Amino acid sequence: MINIENYGWDPKTVGEINHKLMKPPFVRIGDYKIGEKGDIVILLDFRIVQPNQKSLKPKLLHSMEHLLLEGLRFYLKDKLINVGPMGCQTGFYITVVNIYKKDEILSVMEKVLNRILEKTEVPYRNVNDCGQAKFHDLTPAQNLAKKLLAKKDEWAVII
Ligand SMILES: [Zn+2]
Repeated sequence: MINIENYGWDPKTVGEINHKLMKPPFVRIGDYKIGEKGDIVILLDFRIVQPNQKSLKPKLLHSMEHLLLEGLRFYLKDKLINVGPMGCQTGFYITVVNIYKKDEILSVMEKVLNRILEKTEVPYRNVNDCGQAKFHDLTPAQNLAKKLLAKKDEWAVII
């Protein structure tokens, strides 16, 4: 077992939480597993909009997925396992290994969002790397990144 509190996370916000009480945008630990050799795998809930009140449009969700993937790969390298949009279109699941300190994770997210602002095209927007390469829009994704960066001080407030 690890003590999540030692890494800056509030245990009340780890695991299943009532979606009505969530205060997006935030980054929290949805779940974690510890391997036999002590490796820590964390599933992050990067929640962007209020569940059951707002949702991200499919094209925006898709482009944001690509942009987050490129940025997280750039900053985390082998510590990134996966990024995926939530079916409810309110945020993203991000799976990482052996990075678990809250400050460290929030700082990576800030760098990734700033990197999105510098892009002139959506990464991996081609038929070799993407299942719907025509279905992208960079500008709304950059606008969303800007909005999230403006609310950076609220990312740690989860419920
Ligand atoms: Zn794609």
